[in-house]
Amino acid sequence: MYKQSILFLILLLPFSLIAQRYNKLHKKAVLIDTHNDFPSSSIQKKVSFDQRLIGKTHSDLNRMKEGGVDIQVFSIFCGPEKARPYAFANQEIDSVYEWARRNPAKMMMVYNSQDLEKAVKEKTFGAMMGVEGGHMIEDKLENLEALYKRGVRYMTLTWNNSTSWATSAWDETLHKDSLPHLGLTDFGKDVVRKMNALGMIVDLSHTGERTFWDAINTTTKPVIASHSCVYNLCPHRRNLKDDQIKAIAKNGGVIHLNFYAGFIDSTYEKKALAFRSTHKAEIDSLIKLNYQPDYAGMIISEKYPTELSSMLPPLSVLIDHLDYIVKLVGVDHVGLGSDFDGIEAPPKGLKGVQDFPEITKALIARGYSKKDIHKILGGNFIRVLKANEIH
Ligand SMILES: [Zn+2]
Repeated sequence: MYKQSILFLILLLPFSLIAQRYNKLHKKAVLIDTHNDFPSSSIQKKVSFDQRLIGKTHSDLNRMKEGGVDIQVFSIFCGPEKARPYAFANQEIDSVYEWARRNPAKMMMVYNSQDLEKAVKEKTFGAMMGVEGGHMIEDKLENLEALYKRGVRYMTLTWNNSTSWATSAWDETLHKDSLPHLGLTDFGKDVVRKMNALGMIVDLSHTGERTFWDAINTTTKPVIASHSCVYNLCPHRRNLKDDQIKAIAKNGGVIHLNFYAGFIDSTYEKKALAFRSTHKAEIDSLIKLNYQPDYAGMIISEKYPTELSSMLPPLSVLIDHLDYIVKLVGVDHVGLGSDFDGIEAPPKGLKGVQDFPEITKALIARGYSKKDIHKILGGNFIRVLKANEIH
């Protein structure tokens, strides 16, 4: 019996050492997630970031701390159906400011790399903002400038909808022949140049391939893909092909991986379609109540957690995307852009922001060094942020 206990302890030892090691490394590293949709989803769900929202959302202020998230770039998003997207974006920005104002001991706004370092040093959760969809500038460079002044530090040139100056992955894939233009127009190139001049990072997630190439050939600063994965592993229009990944690396940019099952696992979309057709009546009834179709699907998925969980891929599938990019272009060009609170299906084991340490654990298990993990979790984004800043 005694011998068995000793043997049991010896077997357990490596696991507890790994646990200690990953927790320590995770806490020490600066963790920056470049995409979280809480500002728009909180409007739909009528909740606030500083409430306790376990079981209701992927994120809240307390769980950010639990998950070791140092800096969150919040997505400022509204769909194309909003009549005044610029005003709507500003209302979401007001909400982020309000959460920080109400919680000065726990949360601060971050506008540049110096603020970022301050937030990390003071162990205060730092909030940054990125606009997800060029339609929110309503075709005006003044609006872009005003958003920068309010603290927006990246803009995704398109969401699923194209603008008058940039075409989206959705439209370039599904309606290519009926588009009035493809890629960036001259004004679209002016938008990219203006972003460079302001110090706002160009985000190429959601853009069509033509827009991607026009933008990367126009920008003079490193870009990001704030929430995209690898097309070769999961051929979805939202993911990046090898030549695009190589171009981002050449530009000095970073691809931040989206956690959505449909972007990491090529078998997921089929399962999700079957789920949606089973629950079509419920989803449609929410859409009739003015919920955006994406959110309606998300809410109904959350209503059936057992069904949803049976469709989810393991965390290792997400790490496969990371490995792929590292093998293709090196460890300097990959980061994390969860899309939490904008997706209904993260991989198993990542229930919300509190589970970020699981990623560090998985990276250690795959043999990544401490230095590499620091780069992946946040170092690479800091490099791009600094390269975009205007001094
Ligand atoms: Zn998105």
